[in-house]
Amino acid sequence: MKIELWSITPDSELLIERCGRVCWRTELSDEGPQDFIRKLIRKGHESVIEHAKATFYVEGVSRACSHQIVRHRIASYSQESQRYVDMSNPEWSVPPTILKSDKAFDIFCNFLNNAVDTYKSLRELDIPKEDARFTLPNATATTIVITMNFRELRHFFKVRCDRHAQWEIRKMAKGMLEIMYNNAPSVFEDLYREFCQWPKRS
Ligand SMILES: Cc1cc2nc3c(=O)[nH]c(=O)nc-3n(C[C@H](O)[C@H](O)[C@H](O)COP(=O)(O)OP(=O)(O)OC[C@H]3O[C@@H](n4cnc5c(N)ncnc54)[C@H](O)[C@@H]3O)c2cc1C
Repeated sequence: MKIELWSITPDSELLIERCGRVCWRTELSDEGPQDFIRKLIRKGHESVIEHAKATFYVEGVSRACSHQIVRHRIASYSQESQRYVDMSNPEWSVPPTILKSDKAFDIFCNFLNNAVDTYKSLRELDIPKEDARFTLPNATATTIVITMNFRELRHFFKVRCDRHAQWEIRKMAKGMLEIMYNNAPSVFEDLYREFCQWPKRS
């Protein structure tokens, strides 16, 4: 799994402070925006952090995972298309439970090989990519670009870094949270402490 931050609102914490201070007609703090933002978040005044956003490039997650990602509606997505891209040599995402067992791994690989052989046989019969893709499993890896504002990112991290979320989206969300913490600590530090810092949740 590869996660890259492609873009983030410049001086995002300063922008959030400037926007928030409009509400009370107060001046910027000499100490910087961080305490002001911590207060906003403690009070649940989170609409102010919507002014900042980030764009992530994510490669190598399964189609099962990308389906979970795109359930988050306050976001913009661009995903590699199985209608237009040839999938004769796909990458796979393999669940750790399957990796742990030689027997399960064998069964899984056999199934994936059969699926790809079926895809290729259909393509040889001139079946279009958009129809041949119906044979591809959920394990097929995909690439997706995700843009979310900071409020939605906080929501995404709360539900997807949590132990109830599946291992793959959780791994991805934690990777994104670590990046966001490094770029806008005052907005994400509570969640970073909860999900990424020692003692880590299992
Ligand atoms: C552990 C886990 C298990 C899940 N299991 C299932 C499952 O079995 N089946 C299934 O279908 N889904 C499942 N989901 C997906 C889940 O139901 C949501 O679709 C997904 O988490 C997106 O989150 P969301 O709807 O809170 O927020 P987003 O779409 O990210 O929106 C953010 C927030 O905006 C507000 N919002 C957005 N749209 C509306 C709206 N139309 N009306 C009112 N408020 C809105 C809400 O406050 C929402 O929380 C699961 C999610 C998790 C984390």
